[in-house]
Amino acid sequence: MNVPFLDLKKQYAPIREEIMNSIGQVFDRAAFAGGPFVQSFEENYAHFCGTDYAVAVNSGTTALWLALLAMDIGPGDEVITSANTFIATAEAISFAGATPVFVDVDALSYNLDPARLEEAITPRTRAIIPVHLFGQMADMDPIMDIARKHGLQVIEDASQAHGAEYKGRKAGSIGHAGCFSFYPGKNLGAAGEGGAIVTNDANLVKRMQMIRDHGQSRKYHHDVVGWNARMDGLQGAILNVKLHYLEQWNTARRRNARLYNELLDNLPGIQLPVEMDECKHVYHLYVIRTERRDDFMKFLAENGVNCGIHYPVPVPATDAYRFLDYTGDHFPVSEKYAGEIVSLPMFSELTAEQIEHSAAVIKQWVSKNEEVMV
Ligand SMILES: *Cc1c(COP(=O)(O)O)cnc(C)c1O
Repeated sequence: MNVPFLDLKKQYAPIREEIMNSIGQVFDRAAFAGGPFVQSFEENYAHFCGTDYAVAVNSGTTALWLALLAMDIGPGDEVITSANTFIATAEAISFAGATPVFVDVDALSYNLDPARLEEAITPRTRAIIPVHLFGQMADMDPIMDIARKHGLQVIEDASQAHGAEYKGRKAGSIGHAGCFSFYPGKNLGAAGEGGAIVTNDANLVKRMQMIRDHGQSRKYHHDVVGWNARMDGLQGAILNVKLHYLEQWNTARRRNARLYNELLDNLPGIQLPVEMDECKHVYHLYVIRTERRDDFMKFLAENGVNCGIHYPVPVPATDAYRFLDYTGDHFPVSEKYAGEIVSLPMFSELTAEQIEHSAAVIKQWVSKNEEVMV
């Protein structure tokens, strides 16, 4: 049996006709750049997140960048984020002209550790970007408390957490702004690139709408230096269709995670993901940890189970951010986990048979590994 890490074709098959219809409508109205389909998606997505507004843009990276620009964060400013994230979080800070400051993650949740947040704050700090990694939200209450105390903006990077919840509140709705990616493999994915910022702040919305459209308040009247960051009409229409299925897809991901949890319970040397109190995890990724990770992944691949690593190098340890002079001592948890984490196959359409096969192969490796270890 071959178990793919992700199979997007399976997601598409049952909604093919609806998607094709929506594409036809975009062509019929020639609404290709921004336009009514994007606007309708913005309304629906804001409603889904429990916020007043959504601003759709052309990627998750752009969403983060635009939020920072709209908050006037730039050269001379510092923005705190998590050491274990996808590099886009840091890139957005850098492209806004600000400096990323990395904080280590909590050992159970893999998310920004609020206990280490305050020591990273300096007079230059303007914002915090907690990342809801793998589909589970960061511990937002203490993060918001610390931000309030120091007068900082909070931008949630919810690119892996569409529909996740923290104490009954949806990802993106707790900070001053929440940013999403609709990259095809995300829990809600476009047929190409896409992103959005959700917020309750009407002023911020006005600024972001202006910046994403060449700084225009009306056509050819450019109030500020902007950019072209609009979402395609096709993506808006497609996302509108797919949004109807998001809850159902997330439920399937949670069901798949539960089956993994049952089958892999108590295996020596394997650490399973932990659901934090009052958090609804939507399992963008199902991440376990094991020592001898490379051998583990090789054995799984040989037996048809395809895994990933998210991410093999903490962002401050990448060549791109070497200039900031961090050492592993600054982020011991992220550093250790980068050598141990493995993302098992995870998507809504994954079957029980595929999960059972993956678990059986993992158990074989564990027995083999125990012989090696004695
Ligand atoms: C995917 C992702 C992004 C970037 O989104 P793109 O749409 O690929 O630009 C940012 N942050 C995190 C945590 C992500 O997973």
